[in-house]
Amino acid sequence: MTLKTGGCLCGAIRYEIDAEFMGVAVCHCRDCQYASGGGPNFIAMAPRDSVRFVEGEPKRYDRPGGSGATVGRVFCPDCGTPLLSDIGAPFLAVKLAAWTTRPT
Ligand SMILES: [Zn+2]
Ligand SMILES: [Zn+2]
Repeated sequence: MTLKTGGCLCGAIRYEIDAEFMGVAVCHCRDCQYASGGGPNFIAMAPRDSVRFVEGEPKRYDRPGGSGATVGRVFCPDCGTPLLSDIGAPFLAVKLAAWTTRPT
């Protein structure tokens, strides 16, 4: 088991993920292109309960996705780094760029 830690570009937001990822995925939808800045959105699926914010208070923007279900996009209010998406599933879609792994 490894504890994964991550956060935003400016360092205001830090989080920990205390579980193995359930998988990785790539989303090419139009909304994700906004979040990624142009390319597809690379995400890792982390069990919902395993993600906790340990520093800072992220902001969340909710909008219906392609399926009609609400997609919550969580980001740093200071530097704008996209951190994760919440599609109401048992997992949270964590942006691959924002986390690192260290042994525990
Ligand atoms: Zn930030
Ligand atoms: Zn998408």
